[in-house]
Amino acid sequence: TISGFKEVREEDKSQLVGNVFTNVASNYDLMNDLMSGGLHRLWKERLVSKLNPFPGMKHLDVAGGTGDVAFRILETVNSETEIYVCDINPNMLNVGKKRAVERGETKSLIWAEGDAEALDFPDNSMDGYTIAFGIRNVTHIEKALVEAHRVLKRGGRFLCLELSHVDVPLLKQVYDYYSFSIIPAVGELVAGDRESYQYLVESIRRFPPQDKFALMIADAGFQKVEYENLVAGVVAIHSGLKL
Ligand code: SAM
Repeated sequence: TISGFKEVREEDKSQLVGNVFTNVASNYDLMNDLMSGGLHRLWKERLVSKLNPFPGMKHLDVAGGTGDVAFRILETVNSETEIYVCDINPNMLNVGKKRAVERGETKSLIWAEGDAEALDFPDNSMDGYTIAFGIRNVTHIEKALVEAHRVLKRGGRFLCLELSHVDVPLLKQVYDYYSFSIIPAVGELVAGDRESYQYLVESIRRFPPQDKFALMIADAGFQKVEYENLVAGVVAIHSGLKL
């Protein structure tokens, strides 16, 4: 591969993902800002505005990490809302819990350690499901999509924000250079961890392109599946409805 990163066996993936996020948890929010030039904030805002949250809704943010998406949802609705932040990595959740205490947001957020592939929530229990920069780390994406569909109520919305594939040739070259050369270098410089960031870049390259991912969402049972590219596909927001 361009980065020299070895192909990862499926059974090693969960372990590797676990290590990556344990290593990056404490620097995660700073690194997000550095690597996206702050753009991830706008992308998450776009995700939440598409979700169009309403007071009293019951929402599940999977791979919710340090709570970035959940805090934004809370900002747009009142505190009656229940937002579950589910993540497989307790270190990421712990950073999120600390942020919640600092912000005085202790009532509406529920932090739950759990796996996107086997959610510990009942069928038809959620009004909304979001997953931001998370699904490409999941070992069996199809399973995570079926689980998303299972936990949503009828009329519930699935929204996925993910780094995707750039389809404009010149921009693609610039983006490839940025991601394969600059990101691991910044990871090493700032977080002292080149490998974790190299893994993150490699996982973007392997993630299915927009149209294929849309088909996977439909295969999981979702209707009205569509996607929106941001910055020519650097990021895409896929959505679907459970009817
Ligand atoms: N959504 C947050 C955000 O946008 O800031 C965090 C995104 S972070 C890049 C990816 C997160 O996915 C990590 O916190 C990681 O622990 C979590 N993750 C990876 N595999 C997972 C799985 N199978 N189930 C739940 N969370 C998972």
